Amino acid sequence: MEYKYCENCMKKVETLVVKVNRTLTHKGKTVTLDIEKRICKVCSEQVYDEVLDQKVSEDFIIAFNKNHGVPGDEIRRFRKSYRLTQEQFSSLLGIAPKTLISYEKNQAIPETSNASLLCLVIEEPRLLYTLSKNKGIELPEKVQKAVPKPIEHEELHELNEFNGFKDKDSERIIRLIKYFSSLKSISMTKLNKAFFYLDFSYFKNQGKSFTGLSYLKHQYGPFTQSLYSYVQDLEQQGEITKKEYLYKEKTFESISIVKKEDIIFKDQAVNNILNNMSKFLLNTNAEEISDLSHQEEAWIKTPFYKPISYSYALTLNLDFVTQ
Ligand SMILES: [Zn+2]
Repeated sequence: MEYKYCENCMKKVETLVVKVNRTLTHKGKTVTLDIEKRICKVCSEQVYDEVLDQKVSEDFIIAFNKNHGVPGDEIRRFRKSYRLTQEQFSSLLGIAPKTLISYEKNQAIPETSNASLLCLVIEEPRLLYTLSKNKGIELPEKVQKAVPKPIEHEELHELNEFNGFKDKDSERIIRLIKYFSSLKSISMTKLNKAFFYLDFSYFKNQGKSFTGLSYLKHQYGPFTQSLYSYVQDLEQQGEITKKEYLYKEKTFESISIVKKEDIIFKDQAVNNILNNMSKFLLNTNAEEISDLSHQEEAWIKTPFYKPISYSYALTLNLDFVTQ
């Protein structure tokens, strides 16, 4: 029998260990697990027990990473199967070696952005090539042998880093065009950026894109060709109208919705992003948004007319998830 100090009884008392089911919360996400706690035999209040409390916090991290993040042993297994040292893997990910080790050992819960990056890479090992290119770190030969060949742009029908691991979703694209053009009349340049920021913000938050569109690096910023055919269809159906206007001696097109309607998605994550974006879109002109998009790593690091990897979503300056 262990004697401990009970704060309630204010003296040393006989104690016992009981099993309870407890729900714990971290950043709004919950985990339920069976834990052991020590209680006072006299009043049944919990008494402090360093060993048990430590075990609860370890079990919680393991359960949390398993349910909501990346389990440490999965990170370790991945790293070893691709023949990466902790040092190499941490510099590719841009995570401090100490931090990576704490994740592998289940001593810490990865930050959201690190967790999404880890999930992405584990799901798609070919991203190691992208990371190595972005960071200017060459993959050692034995690593290259272990990782499947990188994806070429031609294979865009596959789910990959350029479409955000999502099939193109026409219904969502059409509803978004209607949403953006009902805020106020919107230029095609601005519409492209709105889609880019929506998809990349959503990807940062959810680990996949919302529309499945891929974006090329164009001189005016990120650009997605397929928007134009959707806009044309909507115009022919009389849902939107197109207008041409002159700006700095160049002709631009803008679109506006014919019949205003409230557009709400079933997905709360996208509604939040749109809500944050709408204020921004109403107060910023196309030129300002282009300038902002030109400061994104996504745009800077991608060669002209090449698709932009969604892995850059994690480095967004303009983040409509948290604003
Ligand atoms: Zn007591």
